[in-house]
Amino acid sequence: MSECLFCRIIAGSLPTEFVYEDEHVVAFRDINPAAPVHILVVPRAHIETVADLGGDSTGVMSRLTAAANRIARESDVDADGYRLIVNCGRDGGQTVFHLHMHLLGGRKMPELAA
Ligand code: 5GP
Ligand code: ZN
Repeated sequence: MSECLFCRIIAGSLPTEFVYEDEHVVAFRDINPAAPVHILVVPRAHIETVADLGGDSTGVMSRLTAAANRIARESDVDADGYRLIVNCGRDGGQTVFHLHMHLLGGRKMPELAA
């Protein structure tokens, strides 16, 4: 069994409802939502951070973005707008080391801190 929390969710060993899934991507609600809509969009492949992408793996971000845009439409936040975030490493605020994109919407997001 994988030690990685998101690999365990993807494998179905931690019961979690998927709001979207395809061959490459799954998406589920954040357990500690920071906005009315807070979805994590996750590649099925175990990639630790966005810094690991490059060369052949650049398609991963396109897939995550396409899935996030679709979920935003289905969640009715596309007209008012939303925020997509990828935290990288300790200073970036990453706590789960399996690449994921946050989709946040349903309220006005604050300006980014300087
Ligand atoms: P990060 O800080 O790494 O960018 O984001 C990790 C996110 O995963 C956090 O927003 C956290 O609330 C969420 N999270 C942590 N554990 C679980 C879990 O077991 N299930 C779900 N659905 N989300 C989780
Ligand atoms: Zn993983």
